[in-house]
Amino acid sequence: MTRISTLGMDGAAENIDLYEILGIDRGASQPEIKKAYHKAALSSHPDKVAEHERDEADNKFKSISKAYEILYNDDKRHLYDTHGMAAFESSHGNGMDAGGDLEEMLQQMFGMNIRGGMPPGFGGAARPQKPRKGDDEEHPYQVTLEELYKGKTAKFASTKNIICSHCKGSGGKEKAKPKQCASCNGKGVKQALRHISPGMAVPEMVMCSSCRGKGGVYNPKDKCRKCKGECVTQARKVLEIYIPRGSKEGDRIILEGEADQIPNQEPGDIIFGLVQTEHPTFRRAGVDLSADIEVTLAEALCGFSRVVIKHLDGRGIHLQHPQPIARVLKPGQVIKVSGEGMPYKKSDMKGDLYLVVNIGFPEHDWLVKNQAVTKLQELLPEPDKPIETDVVDHVTYDESANLDDFGAGAEGEGWVDDDEEEDGEGPECAQQ
Ligand SMILES: [Zn+2]
Ligand SMILES: [Zn+2]
Repeated sequence: MTRISTLGMDGAAENIDLYEILGIDRGASQPEIKKAYHKAALSSHPDKVAEHERDEADNKFKSISKAYEILYNDDKRHLYDTHGMAAFESSHGNGMDAGGDLEEMLQQMFGMNIRGGMPPGFGGAARPQKPRKGDDEEHPYQVTLEELYKGKTAKFASTKNIICSHCKGSGGKEKAKPKQCASCNGKGVKQALRHISPGMAVPEMVMCSSCRGKGGVYNPKDKCRKCKGECVTQARKVLEIYIPRGSKEGDRIILEGEADQIPNQEPGDIIFGLVQTEHPTFRRAGVDLSADIEVTLAEALCGFSRVVIKHLDGRGIHLQHPQPIARVLKPGQVIKVSGEGMPYKKSDMKGDLYLVVNIGFPEHDWLVKNQAVTKLQELLPEPDKPIETDVVDHVTYDESANLDDFGAGAEGEGWVDDDEEEDGEGPECAQQ
């Protein structure tokens, strides 16, 4: 039996060393992983070994393929590096976000494949389902961009199950002995069918719900009085999370072991996934920020020195646009302010702030005196040379048109040019 299937039967999936399977070290690059995979796959291909070694080679070949599948994909590799195989295993519990893709991969990895049934070496027994660690609880946590900029500490009151302090989680009175659970014959687990897709199911072991996996139950008179045989009681606890400055949407804040306590099981984590609310002024990309600023036409032409925007920590950002050096701001022009973006985590550095200039033109009728127009005209640059053409048409126009209408009126198919009709081609032809 190969190493991987032995481990699989124990359920200790997180101990599998995928790097060892491929014979590479942990810093291996993608090309190195690919090369190692080709080499390993070739040497253990089931077609290349003697008949009696075929089963083992087959298993080894499968584990090599799976190791490659995980390590060659950056996302999966990162998951594996940070959490071991447990990262893939957690999708097996009744977790909230079971990744179907990973789950399927794990099934294949442990031979519980849908088409072929159990592979050699498994003896038909499904992987034990009793988890070493309880399920993690994931919650979204909304934060503003200001909070991500400055960092934040938040407190929560959480009500969770804790192991009963009176019976220490046994559920029974002192000296009382549980009797064997009739539902699972004392095994704590029962076989059940898990439906993978309509009409397809695989057998798996699930925790017995009658005895909660303990194999024994107490008579009503022997149950612990504090928890009434439930083994756990409810407790309130104040939890505190710290969101470091520079955090971003999708970051996870993990409170280790703060999920419900279950007897004989390490409690899972409470995980907060940050979700950023949209900001009315600032947009964020990595550590950079961008925002629009409003500048009047006079300021764009004549210069200004003022606060143009209020930053996320309440500071005013002052720009001095020099004049009279004849520098002009144009619509859509982008001004970059270095070091005024989002903070880097655990560092004093910051990204950059990109300010996009909007020029506010005056409204109609802003100019009351005609002589002022003449003055302005004298001041502003002269128009370009006139466009020379042989024929000039004076046209009427609509000043408030919309580019959304552009192309909307052109029904090319049904449209018939007057000239064509006169040329003798009937409308029937033109309709085609
Ligand atoms: Zn108790
Ligand atoms: Zn039971």
